[in-house]
Amino acid sequence: MDFVWFLLPIAMWLGWQLSKRKTKRSEQKTAECGTAYYKSINYLLNEQPDKAIEVFIQMLEVDNETVETHLALGNLFRRRGEVDRAIRLHQNLIARPNLNEEQRTQALLELGQDYMKAGLFDRAESLFLELIDINAHSEIALTFLVQIYQQEKEWNKAISIAEQLEDTSKESMKTEIAQYYCELADEQVMQKQPERVVELLQQALKYDPDCVRASITLGNLAMDGAEFKRAIEYFSVVHKQDSDFCPQVLPKLMTCHEEQGGIKAMMEYLEKILQDHFSTSLMLMLAGLIQAEEGDEPAMAFLSSQLRIHPSVQGLEQMVALSLSSQKSETETLEILRDLMKRLLQDRPHFKCQGCGFEGKSLHWQCPRCKQWAQVKPIQVSSSYYL
Ligand SMILES: [Zn+2]
Repeated sequence: MDFVWFLLPIAMWLGWQLSKRKTKRSEQKTAECGTAYYKSINYLLNEQPDKAIEVFIQMLEVDNETVETHLALGNLFRRRGEVDRAIRLHQNLIARPNLNEEQRTQALLELGQDYMKAGLFDRAESLFLELIDINAHSEIALTFLVQIYQQEKEWNKAISIAEQLEDTSKESMKTEIAQYYCELADEQVMQKQPERVVELLQQALKYDPDCVRASITLGNLAMDGAEFKRAIEYFSVVHKQDSDFCPQVLPKLMTCHEEQGGIKAMMEYLEKILQDHFSTSLMLMLAGLIQAEEGDEPAMAFLSSQLRIHPSVQGLEQMVALSLSSQKSETETLEILRDLMKRLLQDRPHFKCQGCGFEGKSLHWQCPRCKQWAQVKPIQVSSSYYL
């Protein structure tokens, strides 16, 4: 039924077009069109949109004035998932000899998108290539081609088209191109071509020096070949490329350093990245290493200095565990712990809105965010909320 609401405006527009044309065309022709127009409205009202559409399309003579309408209609069909209908309409349009070059290439571009949506990638590909060849709508055509090659996993073609797209649009495709090289490398891994894999991954890094994927894969390969020193080199750059990927490589780095007998080097590395990007899990890892290498006291000293700047419950828990096994006097340990807990508690909110979750340190009878009354309540200390 909702289809009627989409077609009615078109029907109204057609009616208006018909009245406008009376002066141009013969009376008889207008009468013919008029009959068809009422026929299609009738189909619409009888909820037979398919028939209505056929009549509409027949009514629309292809001339310079109606090409736009055909294109818009075809676009709508495609967006509604009626790809067959869109394809027929656009093919019909292209077959007309009276289209100008701009109209013809526009219709080709639309048809290419229809084919894409229908999964007819070969046909879409040749249309887009044709457009690029005649230098019409190149940028859009290149964009669609990249999508096709990605879908088809034709990475070499994707790379070459992405390079052309970069030239045309002046927008960087380095992230994408690097990923395509990584995909190629993955294929070669399966073919057991290690040298080629390394070559392709280096290529990825040439395009995008921040390609984490290439560094991780190179590191993994080196690890597999027991080349731990080289693996460390690859893994060590990941935190500079994207620090979010640290958790992905740290355990592997640790293994490599252990193999190399260089736990100290691992500790130095962790200290360095902890300064740039603090994270609790990193801190805990380093504390564990310090404890294993240097003993409880240095580990506690490190933890308490870190926790003063970045208080966290997980850190506190490790601190307690260390205190239990340490030789330090109980009062001293308890003082450090109390100090850290104070810090943790200082930052917590005291009140929370039951309606929207707003948190604050003071009591508002009307929530400042959602404006509801009497919804802001004290947070119960017993709740697990603080964790
Ligand atoms: Zn609220």
